[in-house]
Amino acid sequence: MNHIKKQFDGLQVLKDVSIHVEEGEVLSIIGPSGSGKSTLLRCATLLTRIDGGEISYMGKKAIWTENGKVCMPSKNEIKDIQSCFGLVFQNFNLFPHFTVMKNITDAPIHVQKRNKDEVYKEARELLAKMGLSDKEDAYPYQLSGGQCQRVAIARALALNPKILFFDEPTSALDPELTGEVLRVIRSLADLHITMVIVTHEMNFAKDISDRVIFMDKGVIAVEGTPSEVFSSSNARMKEFLGKFH
Ligand code: ATP
Ligand code: MG
Repeated sequence: MNHIKKQFDGLQVLKDVSIHVEEGEVLSIIGPSGSGKSTLLRCATLLTRIDGGEISYMGKKAIWTENGKVCMPSKNEIKDIQSCFGLVFQNFNLFPHFTVMKNITDAPIHVQKRNKDEVYKEARELLAKMGLSDKEDAYPYQLSGGQCQRVAIARALALNPKILFFDEPTSALDPELTGEVLRVIRSLADLHITMVIVTHEMNFAKDISDRVIFMDKGVIAVEGTPSEVFSSSNARMKEFLGKFH
C-alpha cells in the first residue's frame, strides 16, 4: 500500500499510510480504538474504496488514483486479486443455515469450481488441524464462539489464500476461548503463511509477529520488529501500552 488516504464525511481516517508485506511475513497492527486499523484492512482487501494512493498485490495494481480519480483493473482481474485473500473478522460471519462442513466447502466447490471429493478431503484435514473433527455436521448455533472462529479460519484456509487478514479475531471471545484461537493462528505463523493481524492481544502480537505497526490517528506512528516497537519511546505508544498493564 502506497500513500493510502481515506476519509469518511470529512474525517480523515487514513492519512498517507504505506505498508509493504513480504511473502511469509506476519505483520501485526495495533493501536487505539478509532485509529483506523479496520479501515486499513477494509481498504487493503478492496471492501472500501481508497481516496488516494495505490495498492498492489504481487506486482499487480489492484486500485490506484489518477488526478483524484479512483481506478481499478477489469472485474476479472479484481476477482483474481481478491481470490488471494482470506478474511477472518471479529464476528465469524459463518452462514447460520449451513453446517460446518458446508461453510468450509461451499466456496471452493461453487466459486473456485474445485473437485468436490478433494475439497471435502482437505476440509476434513483442516477441521482436524483446528481440533473440530467431531463438528463437521454441526450448525454454527451449536458451537462456542471459539469453535466458530476456528471454523471461520478453516473456511478462509480452504480457499488456499496467499495472504490471510485477521481483524481482532478474538475480541468477541471469552478469555478461555481466546487461547485456542490464538494457538491456531500461531500454528499458521509457524507454517509461514503470510498474515496481517489487527489485534488487541499485545503478548500475542509480540510473540507471533515479524513486524509490528502501531497506528495512531490515521498514521503509522511506530513500525519495526516487536522488540523495537514494544520498547519504543513514542509517547502515544507508551500511553497505549500502559492501558494493558
Ligand atoms: P477499533 O480498535 O475500535 O476497532 P479501529 O482502529 O479499527 O478501531 P476504524 O474502524 O478503522 O478504527 O475507524 C476509524 C475511524 O473511522 C473512526 O472514527 C470511525 O468512526 C470512522 N469510520 C469507520 N468506518 C466508517 C464508515 N463506514 N462511515 C463513517 N465513519 C467511519
Ligand atoms: Mg477495528
